[in-house]
Amino acid sequence: MKKERLDTPRTKGLRISLVKDLRQKGITDENVLNAISEVPRHFFFDEEFETIAYEDRAFPIAANQTISQPYTVAFQSELLQVKKFDKILEIGTGSMYQATILAEMGATVITIERQKELYNQTNNFLLKSKYPSSKLKFIYGDGFEGLPTFAPFDKIIITCGAPFIPPKLIQQLKIGGIMVIPLASDEHHKMWRITKVDDENYNEEVFSDFSFVPMLPGTQK
Ligand code: SAH
Repeated sequence: MKKERLDTPRTKGLRISLVKDLRQKGITDENVLNAISEVPRHFFFDEEFETIAYEDRAFPIAANQTISQPYTVAFQSELLQVKKFDKILEIGTGSMYQATILAEMGATVITIERQKELYNQTNNFLLKSKYPSSKLKFIYGDGFEGLPTFAPFDKIIITCGAPFIPPKLIQQLKIGGIMVIPLASDEHHKMWRITKVDDENYNEEVFSDFSFVPMLPGTQK
């Protein structure tokens, strides 16, 4: 039988150190820092990697993918200017950690994953009782298509390296909405924040380099 996962004084302490580290690296949004201090990141890792969960580094998960580094999660979440009750679309569910952080910040989150193996793991989401599917919904599909039935979204966050701004995603963003997207140049990605001013006009801001697994078309069984 699987042992119950616990959030102990030790893991809580590790989170306090992680938050301190993220503050020193320049993260200032208190709602983001608070969410990181609330969500037990080790629940998204296999048990033997409990301590590594609180180091500021990316880590391999199933299907050759990675759980983003805490700094990257914090940086993207900060750029997104999350407000309570925002409806947010995430592309690239992966470990579910980024989506959970956004849900903890009070947003309603819908997240898409193209790899069946990773999507299937969302059935074992350990924090389901705290974030039911009305708050955090997992979808198997191709992020390039977005989710027209749930559109428009207040915010869209892409957590894989995109080759270009997917036109269908921009369409599904509300006027005044924000998209945070790592856009490929070479093997690195520059983080972009795109604000939809109206149907023809976008405000674009470019931030520093990050490294992501690629955003790929279609789904994988
Ligand atoms: N947000 C994740 C990061 C996972 S890595 C986390 O917190 O752990 C990026 C993920 O994007 C991978 O799981 C990859 O399979 C997925 N991905 C890549 N292209 C995609 C696409 N077109 N649609 C949906 N997901 C995609």
